[in-house]
Amino acid sequence: MKLLNYLAGQWVEGEGLGVSLCDPVSAEPVAFASSEGLDLAAALDFARVRANPALQALTFAQRADLLAQLADVLMVNRDSYYQAALSNSGNTAVDAGIDVDGGIGTLKYFSALGKSLGESCFAVEAGMDRLSKEKTFQSAHVLTPLKGVAIHINAFNFPSWGLWEKASVSLLAGVPVFAKPATTSSLLTYLMIKDVVDADILPPGSLSLICGGGHDLMDHVQSSDLVFFTGSADTAIKLRSNANVIRSNVRFSVEADSLNMSLLGADVLAGTPLFDAFIKEVVKEMTTKAGQKCTAIRRIMVPASQIDAVAEALSARLAKVVVGDPRNEGVRMGPLMNKSQQQAAEEGLTVLLQETELVFGGGKDFSPVAEDPAAGCFMQPTLLRCDEPLQAQRIHDTEVFGPVSTLMAYQSESEAWALAQRGGGSLACSVFTADDVLALRAVEMLAVHHGRVLLVNETVQAGHTGHGIVMPQCVHGGPGRAGGGEELGGMRGLKHYMQRTAIQGDVAVLKQLLDAAAII
Ligand code: NAP
Repeated sequence: MKLLNYLAGQWVEGEGLGVSLCDPVSAEPVAFASSEGLDLAAALDFARVRANPALQALTFAQRADLLAQLADVLMVNRDSYYQAALSNSGNTAVDAGIDVDGGIGTLKYFSALGKSLGESCFAVEAGMDRLSKEKTFQSAHVLTPLKGVAIHINAFNFPSWGLWEKASVSLLAGVPVFAKPATTSSLLTYLMIKDVVDADILPPGSLSLICGGGHDLMDHVQSSDLVFFTGSADTAIKLRSNANVIRSNVRFSVEADSLNMSLLGADVLAGTPLFDAFIKEVVKEMTTKAGQKCTAIRRIMVPASQIDAVAEALSARLAKVVVGDPRNEGVRMGPLMNKSQQQAAEEGLTVLLQETELVFGGGKDFSPVAEDPAAGCFMQPTLLRCDEPLQAQRIHDTEVFGPVSTLMAYQSESEAWALAQRGGGSLACSVFTADDVLALRAVEMLAVHHGRVLLVNETVQAGHTGHGIVMPQCVHGGPGRAGGGEELGGMRGLKHYMQRTAIQGDVAVLKQLLDAAAII
């Protein structure tokens, strides 16, 4: 199958055979994708000129209804998406659920949110500020959707969720979407967009797609557009430093590499339910999607007095994880995405081993359950240990995008905070403690380095949503190494797609403005 591109309301074929998209278990091609020779500038213009005004003529409630219809179509075809997640990404059913259902769930969430915004086409922030002695002269802040197109560039690991977590917010705000999934895993994105296009839900040009390289896309962005990028730091730098991107001052948000941490509080002793919950969560994070989650736990910080117990408990649990072809019953972890990801992860592991000792895994005597293990892109879950992590460097700056994490011992609370900071800014961290004072201090010390902090105590240990799961209600993104971007966060997410403008004038006029708009 050769994947087509959907530009200016038409399916178009890229030149040549294109890049092969492979099954990471067998290395056999499952599809080909090409975006060679396409007129990307014309496609972006079509979205700006045709789709943007059509979407912005709709109210929030009407756009919310479109999101609900998209979710309905995707629900009907859900089984075929699970199949694509297996054949093109080697996902287990659990992995596919996070991606596919996570995408559909995010659409539904923003649909409900949009309905609550009602029959306005634009928004305001709550309240007014007095600007002079006279109460009559005041200011308000209005939020109007941008007049361009939102270019959404995604990483290979979430071809569904990455698409919809960005598109749902963009479409609800009234800004058309130009989706650029990673080529290697674009089959799922293509199938979803094909079903949505067939259902004829959105105004023409509201959702464009290229399956294949991005080519000169950045040369055609304009100041009224936005670019939301998820991927590696290197690609982010390349795209963000494009001359046209710099010149146009286009909004450019980056979600990049991240060395997310989890911290075990000194109060949590081996054998307690909270200790077990910590162990379970770390193993889940290391093995779900074969560790190819941007939010996965890479650095595990535990009190020095507990490190042996933690190493033992994690190793025992990791030993039970069956790795192989997810088509085999009992397999709990599939392969990495492709051979180059496998090679990069193995090279990264070699770097980390310069500063750590191997606790579990490493690949020797590893036999994945698959017909031809050598053809597949398998990697054994691997746990490393560093007893003097403040003296080390690479464990804090090398992201191995696979099932590899490093245990780090801390001697004191202040050492734990210092270790956290060494990550250089991350998407997510979790803190397991029953000590409320420690939990609150953790917020004070860790929030500035993270986009999200999960606090787990005995009350929420069984019912929390998970260290690595991004909830649409909460912001996603992180400072520093993580790219400095921000997405989602309920209403907050809409503001990225809008211009905030201060309006100064007669309070009576401003009141009418506020009455006509949705408050966000
Ligand atoms: P990547 O190689 O940096 O690619 C990211 C995206 O950029 C792909 O869609 C790629 O397309 C596209 N791209 C490359 N050149 C382009 C151009 N000239 N114009 C437009 N688009 C272009 O990253 P990846 O290997 O897919 O993903 C792995 C990395 O992503 C990891 O480092 C991980 O930490 C990070 N990640 C971060 C998050 C987060 O939320 N922070 C989430 C997931 C992953 P092609 O595939 O066609 O090259």
